[in-house]
Amino acid sequence: MTEGIQVERFDVVVVGAGLAGLQATRLLARGGARVLLVERKNSVEDSVHTTGIFVRRTLEDFDLPRECLGPPVRRVKLYSPARRAQVLESGHDEFRVGRMGRLYERMLEECLDARAAWSPATRYAGLEGARDFESGGGVVVRLERAGVERRVAARFIIGGDGARSRVARDLGLDENREWIVGVEDVFRGVPPEGEPCFHCFLDPRLAPGYLAWVVCDGEETHVGVGGYAQDFDPARALEEFRAEMARRFDFTRARRVERRGGRIPVGGVLKRIVCRRGLLVGDAAGAVSPLTAGGLDPCMRLSSHAAEVVARYLSTGDEAALARYSGARFRSRFLSRLWMRRALSSVRSPALLEAACALSRRAPFDSFARHVFFGRGSFPDAAPARPSLKAGESGAAV
Ligand SMILES: Cc1cc2nc3c(=O)[nH]c(=O)nc-3n(C[C@H](O)[C@H](O)[C@H](O)COP(=O)(O)OP(=O)(O)OC[C@H]3O[C@@H](n4cnc5c(N)ncnc54)[C@H](O)[C@@H]3O)c2cc1C
Repeated sequence: MTEGIQVERFDVVVVGAGLAGLQATRLLARGGARVLLVERKNSVEDSVHTTGIFVRRTLEDFDLPRECLGPPVRRVKLYSPARRAQVLESGHDEFRVGRMGRLYERMLEECLDARAAWSPATRYAGLEGARDFESGGGVVVRLERAGVERRVAARFIIGGDGARSRVARDLGLDENREWIVGVEDVFRGVPPEGEPCFHCFLDPRLAPGYLAWVVCDGEETHVGVGGYAQDFDPARALEEFRAEMARRFDFTRARRVERRGGRIPVGGVLKRIVCRRGLLVGDAAGAVSPLTAGGLDPCMRLSSHAAEVVARYLSTGDEAALARYSGARFRSRFLSRLWMRRALSSVRSPALLEAACALSRRAPFDSFARHVFFGRGSFPDAAPARPSLKAGESGAAV
């Protein structure tokens, strides 16, 4: 199919320079793979769509640069629909809000230092002759930059292209079907009212099926709402929530620096996330906690695992290496959270939620709230990532 056509060749094309794509790229490139990282945005700092709350387990297990993280947060205030607060304190630094633009930039620098090729402002447009590659392995990837088409050949493709992954569709892998949407404003100049705190508001009118939140770490304040798109108007809910929060926090000198938003897949890790031509990471793989909608820890863990699996597959050609990347196995670890999501999404009555909150303020039920916010259960641990390609094995053979 590609005979006679001049195409650039890589071991791996990674689509999407979000946290998942960046993590997979830097590990594979450090291991010696020839990687091309493709991103449709001009810069990784543009249109960040996450609050950026990293949980303790991620902070402990991954060496995130301190200057890309806000001050530690140890306190959560959980509010009922009637705004009755339950204060949860931890003896540990439970969360830090990432300065995500800076963090993505730093990770990109590490990818480039490891000699990954970088193609910003470039849209992944599809796989060429996908069917012809079923038997032979490898892919030809169609890319578009400023209206100009480019084709690259690769032995493998990684879809880190977010919740509505085109790579997933083109590879015939599973696709996300259940989402909530989140939207938030980021402020500077809100004076801290005491310790850094993560305020979570359960209110099915403002945030049906999820939360409204304010995270103040003393430097940045994020005010947001999330819920099922069909049940609310996110922009209007945010406006209403901000007006309410302006009576609770001092926004008189605050400056809004960003609006962020996007879809969050909450249907659990997809079952089919790998085939002989490629695999999915991050939101594209549905790797988000269905209950808390936290996706940053899964990005780091699943991409580390993916890098290891891909490096082994490329160096041995053994498809058994890919079988270890099983969405079904990960998914089974999320079953209780999937059930809790079903329960949360079905509660639309403020009175019922108020009663549940009253219960959760009493022992022994208060331990459940602590477990949700401070528990260390997260994405299943994958083996430590030490991907490497043997010398001379780099370079595609499509
Ligand atoms: C409002 C909001 C707040 C959140 N807050 C938190 C939080 O505080 N903590 C937490 O743990 N999780 C949070 N999440 C979830 C978390 O942010 C995501 O799970 C995580 O960022 C997903 O990263 P990713 O790299 O998989 O995808 P993305 O960050 O979506 O990256 C995908 C990249 O692929 C690019 N791309 C897509 N299509 C193409 C294409 N055709 N060609 C080229 N490039 C393409 C996109 O431009 C993008 O840069 C939040 C989500 C939202 C929406």
